[in-house]
Amino acid sequence: MASETILVIEDNAANRLLAEAILQTAGYQVLFAGDAELGISLARSEQPALILMDISLPGMDGLAATARLRGDAATRSIPVVALTAHAMQGDQERALSAGCVAYVSKPFDRPELLQIVAGAIGPRRGEP
Ligand code: MN
Repeated sequence: MASETILVIEDNAANRLLAEAILQTAGYQVLFAGDAELGISLARSEQPALILMDISLPGMDGLAATARLRGDAATRSIPVVALTAHAMQGDQERALSAGCVAYVSKPFDRPELLQIVAGAIGPRRGEP
């Protein structure tokens, strides 16, 4: 079972609950933030193995938040996976440009989410 901590930055309660159900049953510890400012703060203090970042957030959006995380030595090595609306093709390209390692379309597909999460965390294992 996976035991890494994943930080989910997502303002939509239904998406939070679904992500929590999928990730917790796979054994991950899950932390939540409803906005980018709290998410960045938690990323710094909790050093999660991965961040799932909603692109559309109130206030600072997920692209700006990802750029902020990438520019901070304390959070630079934490992979960020974007959570994008299914139809928003442009969001996916912008997410990768902002420094996300991958994206997942909402609504979540359980096998897809877990595969992308495991793939994004995996390369980090064993690094100094
Ligand atoms: Mn949102």
